[in-house]
Amino acid sequence: MRAEIVSMTADNLDENAIARAGEILKKGGLVAFPTETVYGLGGDALNPLSSKKIYAAKGRPSDNPLIIHIADMDSLDRIVKEVPEKAMLLAEKFWPGPLTMIFQKSDQVPMETTGGLDSVAVRFPSDGVAAALIRAAGGYVAAPSANTSGRPSPTTAEHVEEDLGDAIDMIIDGGAVGIGLESTIVDFTEEVPVVLRPGYISLEMLKAVLGEVRMDKGLISPDSKIHPKAPGMKYRHYAPKAELSIVEGETEAVTEAINRFALAAEEREEQIGIIATEETFSRYPRGIVKCIGSREEEETIAHNLYEVLREFDQCQVSEIYSEAFYTPRMGQAIMNRLLKAAGHKIIHVQGEK
Ligand code: AMP
Ligand code: MG
Repeated sequence: MRAEIVSMTADNLDENAIARAGEILKKGGLVAFPTETVYGLGGDALNPLSSKKIYAAKGRPSDNPLIIHIADMDSLDRIVKEVPEKAMLLAEKFWPGPLTMIFQKSDQVPMETTGGLDSVAVRFPSDGVAAALIRAAGGYVAAPSANTSGRPSPTTAEHVEEDLGDAIDMIIDGGAVGIGLESTIVDFTEEVPVVLRPGYISLEMLKAVLGEVRMDKGLISPDSKIHPKAPGMKYRHYAPKAELSIVEGETEAVTEAINRFALAAEEREEQIGIIATEETFSRYPRGIVKCIGSREEEETIAHNLYEVLREFDQCQVSEIYSEAFYTPRMGQAIMNRLLKAAGHKIIHVQGEK
């Protein structure tokens, strides 16, 4: 079976195709769709068989729970036990948007959807195509990122087709996504809210609303024995086929080090891949150099990260070196994904960042 591909935008919905996609989901099928973060692989969140199909299509470990997507606040009550007041404050500020919140689940949510956990992750996306699909499907769509498990998340419908074109019923092509990194996840099942995955909504933005909020210890010390609380954060992820390393330090030292690796590779009659920025692109005379965006506009770096990682899979390189991107607001999220893609391989060339 090859997935049917339909194209539309939020301003120009194909109501007919949305209705058909809704029917596919209600019957237990799978539909990939755009959101403002990355493309999602949707199934009926309240149907355990749909969740099983999602895991199978992605090759995702079944202990890695799915996020339930809703399209209005009224839908929340049916799937959670209670919503703490602080979570309501966050919802008022950031929903619909790139924020996922974790609550105690109700009996309506099958264990298959939550990977066996008593809690459930919920997101209310702002993308108009996503909202229309969720409504057409009956209100509750379980959707992990629409990539094969371990691969970079998809930011275009082409990426979805590449990974899952043979495994699902339909792909809704809504063009390139806006943000390009997955949602920020905040856990409300503990006394103090905990960030389980950094995203577009930064710790500072959360603090401004919640006051007290902390980062999951498993995120802060990724090499230690402390497991991240979000089961998905413990897996290697987003990895390109070539070996990726991050080179960190003062800009001059970073570009010099990467150029040395490029020269050494050239002497072996090989080429390395280089992830550079607009600011440094012209400083790399050797290797296959890709520009990820501008440090002056960190959104561009977030937006292009997965695309660039995927592009290197089409190149003849066995090693990729990336600059580090500790940008002011999204740096935490960008570096979280990049470090995972690199299996935490960092080369420090000087003390400073
Ligand atoms: P993805 O849908 O691919 O963006 O991944 C969803 C992320 O949310 C994974 O890292 C999951 O482990 C995490 N997640 C989903 N539900 C829960 C939950 N109930 N508790 C903790 N983490 C969760
Ligand atoms: Mg994912």
